[in-house]
Amino acid sequence: MMMMIVPGYLSFPPVSGVEYQNKSAVMVFALGSASERLLRDLSNYKHQVYRDTYPFHNDTRKEGFMFLTTCSQPRSRGQVTLRDSSTSVPPLLDTNYLHQYHDVACMIKAIRRAERLVSTKAFQEIGARIHWPRPERCRTFWRYSAEDQAGLKPKRKRFKSTKQEKKPKEAANVKPKSPKMSPPDEYLECLLREVAVTGHHAAGTCAGGTVVDNHLRVKGVKGLRIMDASVLPTPLSLYPNSVLVGMAEKAADLIRNTPETLI
Ligand SMILES: Cc1cc2nc3c(=O)[nH]c(=O)nc-3n(C[C@H](O)[C@H](O)[C@H](O)COP(=O)(O)OP(=O)(O)OC[C@H]3O[C@@H](n4cnc5c(N)ncnc54)[C@H](O)[C@@H]3O)c2cc1C
Repeated sequence: MMMMIVPGYLSFPPVSGVEYQNKSAVMVFALGSASERLLRDLSNYKHQVYRDTYPFHNDTRKEGFMFLTTCSQPRSRGQVTLRDSSTSVPPLLDTNYLHQYHDVACMIKAIRRAERLVSTKAFQEIGARIHWPRPERCRTFWRYSAEDQAGLKPKRKRFKSTKQEKKPKEAANVKPKSPKMSPPDEYLECLLREVAVTGHHAAGTCAGGTVVDNHLRVKGVKGLRIMDASVLPTPLSLYPNSVLVGMAEKAADLIRNTPETLI
């Protein structure tokens, strides 16, 4: 959920590396370029939020990549409520993201790991630097200007100088070093609440053991089974699709091999 820019790299498949540690993960994503349309469709960002998050969205000279950081076992739980017994009335969905502070802390840990990765020799050698998103509502938590974000000027260190003090001559030629631009946790939490996007791995609304039995039969209803992500009792760590395809194969076998009297 942070963006980095390095010059001159060509496009690559969306996820080109994943690192797991302590139930959180860091992914290298969208090497080369990220399509505004795709990201806005996926994230539902408003126009300005998108621009504040991806400062080089329209600058093809600035190629880069993103780190996606995620919590693979989130504890927050949402809710689906039926508004009507008619299937034509959409249900109410409350995703309840980041309700449990555990999920925020877990993702902050992953962001810090991504930050450390950027400071390693390998990333420094390709000139990688982080362009933190700077949504308006987070700016009170950290002084980070649009110029800082674009890397246009190093932040000057404040130092007290008295009139009597004279700078040594050599110092005039020394370029100010860019201080480490590391946001406080409060800023990261604000970023998560403002611009984090979902992985779209919703599941669990007809959890196995509660709504369906171990043969995927809906409890109390004859002749009805469910096989989709809703039957997962707890979140899968990261990508669910292959597991769901495997479960669907199993469900087909179950249905084929169940005597009619037991359906
Ligand atoms: C943008 C996005 C990116 C994702 N990326 C990944 C990824 O990279 N890797 C990964 O593992 N997972 C990914 N996922 C998650 C993954 O796609 C889902 O977890 C998975 O598809 C869920 O499977 P499902 O069978 O429960 O539901 P679905 O795959 O949504 O299948 C439901 C099906 O039911 C059909 N349907 C709905 N209503 C009716 C109706 N009334 N009558 C008949 N048919 C109906 C729909 O058309 C659909 O075909 C992504 C999801 C999204 C949205």
